[in-house]
Amino acid sequence: MSELRQNFATKEWVVIATERARRPEELASRRERKQVASFVATCPFCPGNEKLTPPEVLRVPSAIDVPWHARVIPNKYAALSRDAQPTRTVHRSRRVVNGFGVHDVIIETPDHSQLLALMPESYVAEILHIYKTRYDELTLDPRIALITIFKNHGIDAGTSLEHPHSQMIATPVTSLQVRQRFQQALRCFDDFGACMFCQMLEEELQEQTRIVAVSEHFVALELYASPAPFCTHIYPRRHMASFGDVSAAEINDLARLLRLTLAKLYHGLGDPDFNFTIRSSPTDSVGVKYFHWYLSVIPRLTRVAGFELGSGMFINTVLPEAAAEFLRKVDVKNTAAASTS
Ligand SMILES: [Zn+2]
Ligand SMILES: [Zn+2]
Repeated sequence: MSELRQNFATKEWVVIATERARRPEELASRRERKQVASFVATCPFCPGNEKLTPPEVLRVPSAIDVPWHARVIPNKYAALSRDAQPTRTVHRSRRVVNGFGVHDVIIETPDHSQLLALMPESYVAEILHIYKTRYDELTLDPRIALITIFKNHGIDAGTSLEHPHSQMIATPVTSLQVRQRFQQALRCFDDFGACMFCQMLEEELQEQTRIVAVSEHFVALELYASPAPFCTHIYPRRHMASFGDVSAAEINDLARLLRLTLAKLYHGLGDPDFNFTIRSSPTDSVGVKYFHWYLSVIPRLTRVAGFELGSGMFINTVLPEAAAEFLRKVDVKNTAAASTS
């Protein structure tokens, strides 16, 4: 029988439609896998075309006379501008803030065809360390309220450029969605005297059924009330409200688990389009006891349709426990060896 499950963090209800349930492998992408060249002469993110992008904010390694592994540049078509001032105007029912913000692009590799799921862990770690460096820098700007780190992989995830990259947008306001999650987390803390995410992690680790993989400092799992098939969250095991609190050793460990999770999705579901995002506390709430940052990977296997738009409720056709079991069984090492032979 289908059931309605409630997400503890958002209070949102999800229909887990086991009547319409599909076996996890049925969702695997059947698209013909395109052969991608490692260098594309017209790609602005490929090495040699640095002049086509705005001047870089950060480069790794920093020495200018050696080839780069990764670059951070301002987005040429930025949604917000760092040159504006966030002046707020309120007039009767209307309120507006000038379009101040920072919109970075992180070019993850010089290789046009490389994928995070298949990169060495040390490369993934380098990218996560860049996120942290830029996150820390942006946190210091008192005009910034919220920093959102995200990646779009594939057309269905909204990417416009094939070259592997992720983005970071810092805004002078905090969205209603983030505020509501924060208020919900605070209410839980008041009721139970503990972080609800820490509580959830303890329960999930005891129960095991929704765990995908565990590392020294992080846990990857399917949410009990997962809104979409294979939506996988990675939580730090230590309580931390902000991504800015993560240590260098923890970042290296996160790189290992993130790469493993992406590799399991890649091999298990045939390189699905996906988004990932880091959900961290707004900059004015660093260090709170009631919120816990996490990384959310959302494969784009199904589409949002009329029911979701009309009701705000999602229908998930894969049981989260079945998705976790399926991902646990994807043997990344053997599959990787097989796919390169
Ligand atoms: Zn390229
Ligand atoms: Zn916590």
